[in-house]
Amino acid sequence: MAQITTQKTKTKNKKYHIITYGCQMNWSDSERFAGALECLNYEKASSLEDADLIVINACSVRQSAVDRVWGQTKKILELKKKKNVKAILTGCVLEQDKTKFKERFDVIMKITDIPKLPEILGEEDKIKLFQDQISQYSYLNVKPKYGNNFRAYVPISTGCNYFCTYCVIPYTRGLEKVRPVDEIMSEVEELVKNGYKDIWLLGENVNSYQYKNVNFAKLLRKINRLKGKFWIHFVSPNPKDFTDEQIDTIAKCKKIGKYVNLPLQSGNPEVLKRMRRRYDIKKYIYIAKTLRKKVPELCLSTDVIVGFCGETRKEFEDTKKMFELIKYDMAYISEYSERKGTVAAKIYKDNVSHREKERRKKILNKILEKTALYRNKKYVGKVMEAIPDEYKDGYLVGKLHNWKTVKFKAGVNWQRMIGEFVKVRITEALPWGLKAEVVIK
Ligand code: SF4
Repeated sequence: MAQITTQKTKTKNKKYHIITYGCQMNWSDSERFAGALECLNYEKASSLEDADLIVINACSVRQSAVDRVWGQTKKILELKKKKNVKAILTGCVLEQDKTKFKERFDVIMKITDIPKLPEILGEEDKIKLFQDQISQYSYLNVKPKYGNNFRAYVPISTGCNYFCTYCVIPYTRGLEKVRPVDEIMSEVEELVKNGYKDIWLLGENVNSYQYKNVNFAKLLRKINRLKGKFWIHFVSPNPKDFTDEQIDTIAKCKKIGKYVNLPLQSGNPEVLKRMRRRYDIKKYIYIAKTLRKKVPELCLSTDVIVGFCGETRKEFEDTKKMFELIKYDMAYISEYSERKGTVAAKIYKDNVSHREKERRKKILNKILEKTALYRNKKYVGKVMEAIPDEYKDGYLVGKLHNWKTVKFKAGVNWQRMIGEFVKVRITEALPWGLKAEVVIK
């Protein structure tokens, strides 16, 4: 027995802890990072303090995320005084932010360098083991360690060719690279086989997908034809690349979640030009209206930036009008913050005051509160399917097929319901979600 214990001590695996900031794409990248580390026999640590390797998968899209990385580096420095711990910085980080963080991390690496992890970590003895399991030509094909057992992110592309003037993505992730159809299909098939119920297709510009003769609509239909009961969601589509074929596919395919995030960014044509968004308001309204007409249970959300360089009160009024016209179900409203290295930072002035940005944000939130409630009211009395994600204070909280948040009383068997399809009857509409009761069969 004593011998076995000694043996165990000798082969004790190193532990990793990953901290993720940013969008679903970054979360998906962290899952692939974790998958690669586990191929090198690393184990998930129970906390930051318990780890031998700390990975921060960060994001330079907003200053707030960069500030949070600073906060974490202080904790890492403290930990380094007590134990031998390695820290890696990766993700969508701008060069100037990388330079600032240089002293605080042992390694700063591109996420695309996951296939080089054995060399990066000084674990050259495991190269062979690693290469047998990890795709060497694309990190997107690294087998991920999914965050849960019912919802999974599947990247179909990464990077972007559009260079909107405020955005760091084309600089941090590079130009768009698409994943071959058969790779995507085999990952999705495997997930469905393993009982996953909600599959999210990811891409910075997800609907520009084109691989040989398969465009985004075709890919959606291919996945929709797979046997089994599951939902398909996707993020983020670009209005520029939205087509009638995509709208009809969303309307007709039962497995596709009736949720579309259609980024508006601004309702004013001049601001859109300064942002170098490549669609016009007329096209945007056409997509929104056609989607509403053809997809009755649609939940339409948007992303908006208030106070972009030089945005006058009059220009902002156009965004306000769009909120009143489209009557969004949800919206992610951010105040513009300058990102060094982008075109906007070079040629425009961030000249709208913080106070004014806050004021504009409040105005849009007020409209949203009303329109979201108006949209939610039509679901009262309907029986719908939900997937509960979590238990909170006696309730299960989860999502409907159209990604609306729903909350219902947790019964004695609530543990068995997490991550499963549950039929609920909507009993009350609130601006930010729906209340429901479980439908007993
Ligand atoms: Fe950034 Fe624009 Fe590309 Fe979206 S479309 S990732 S905002 S450059």
